Amino acid sequence: MKDERKVDCKKIERMIPRYLDNKLSVYEMQVMLDHMRECKNCKEELTIQYMVSEGLNKAEVENDYNLLQSLENKINDSYKQIKSHDFLYFGFVFCIIAIVCLVIGSVVTIIL
Ligand SMILES: [Zn+2]
Repeated sequence: MKDERKVDCKKIERMIPRYLDNKLSVYEMQVMLDHMRECKNCKEELTIQYMVSEGLNKAEVENDYNLLQSLENKINDSYKQIKSHDFLYFGFVFCIIAIVCLVIGSVVTIIL
């Protein structure tokens, strides 16, 4: 169990640079953010890599709440993206069902 979590963390850590480059798929983002809600180490790793990508060192960042806030904003944006993606997906499925019902409805109308 403990080893499994370690592997998971390594997988998540590898996602971080791609997350910061906005190259993760919505699904990967969801996996990563879900993991970070429960894993402080990975969240910390994200914060550190974010600092590095912003070209700041830790001492600067500890005095710079704006940077931490902008990371929080980025994470919130990701959650919004995940939500709207789910919404689009269900919307799409709903449309297909509606079209199928319409087709069946018109076929039935023609036959009757
Ligand atoms: Zn982790």
